Amino acid sequence: MAISIGINNVTRAYGPVRAVDDLSLEIRAGEFFTLLGSSGSGKSTLLKMIGGFERPSSGEILFDGRDVVDISANKRPVNTVFQSLGLFPHMTVAQNIEYGLRLRGLSGGERARKVGNILELVELSGFEERNVNLLSGGQRQRVALARALVMEPGILLLDEPLTGLDERLRQQMRDEFGRLHKRTGATFVLVTHNQDEALSLSDRMAIMHKGKIEQLDRPEQFFQSPANAFVARFVGMENQVKPERLEEVGGGVVAVICGQRVPVQGALHDSATSLVVIRSDRIVLGEGDTDGDRLRLKVVETMFRGLYRDVKLAFADGQTLVMALDAGGPLLNVGENVVVTLKPKAALLTAA
Ligand code: ADP
Ligand code: MG
Repeated sequence: MAISIGINNVTRAYGPVRAVDDLSLEIRAGEFFTLLGSSGSGKSTLLKMIGGFERPSSGEILFDGRDVVDISANKRPVNTVFQSLGLFPHMTVAQNIEYGLRLRGLSGGERARKVGNILELVELSGFEERNVNLLSGGQRQRVALARALVMEPGILLLDEPLTGLDERLRQQMRDEFGRLHKRTGATFVLVTHNQDEALSLSDRMAIMHKGKIEQLDRPEQFFQSPANAFVARFVGMENQVKPERLEEVGGGVVAVICGQRVPVQGALHDSATSLVVIRSDRIVLGEGDTDGDRLRLKVVETMFRGLYRDVKLAFADGQTLVMALDAGGPLLNVGENVVVTLKPKAALLTAA
């Protein structure tokens, strides 16, 4: 049974460091929720408080509305998969998985049935008697997951479970998490610094920075309305230029950037505290076939990226933006003046 998690004004201080700083959030029963942030932003500390491995300095943690701060980790309806996995090295796959069931006092027959079912779920049927030391990295990962899932937790916590796997395996296991989430129906909370994992798995995600949440939204919202420049950069929207001024025109907002006028998405704010984010995937070379908005820029650098080329373009005042150009497209020379067309909703206004 899935369980909702309420975090109310939770702070966790280590001496002068507030690893988690007066943070509030609501994780819905059954959702796949991700805490995304760079190293040191407080993700693991928050996860450990949900799991009962750390105690908040202040604030409340609620499961289905009931405060669990005084409930110890082993009494919470929660299982955790840590990056280190923590498998018992001298035991077989089955012994690792049934360990928790044994503590619960299940009979041998019941344990064997549950172990069989869960191994089927993680596609390791027949591996019961293998020694975990003889498994590949991905197989060990699956055993760690099976060991957590066999307990049928209402909440599954995953702390960077894919870090350290090679890229192909990481993508494979990432997709596996999505399927397991659907099949188990539990509330999943994933901690990661990997944007691609967060975007592809999450119903909703929070970007954490210095113990606080910068933005909490559905993944696509981060690209349509990033809360601020930090968030935009974090999700890869690196094209950020300072407007000279902002004008309200016919219900919309136009930014004037180095003398050029660009309609922008978002509400009018003080131009001194605003930045214009320009999505690199919505910039087209040339006049375009629609009457989109044009910018006149100078090529300052081109970088080969394999399937495409990054072209860095500068305004007259030296501010730059990068557009991704099809690798088979025209070759541009540094110093050349070009016209680019912005597709609809290419430019977004955000807080500096
Ligand atoms: P993340 O998981 O996002 O990398 P953490 O939650 O591990 O971040 O850490 C957040 C901050 O709290 C860091 O500055 C870290 O050094 C500090 N911190 C975490 N755990 C401890 C601890 N047990 N003692 C002292 N400082 C800690
Ligand atoms: Mg961590």
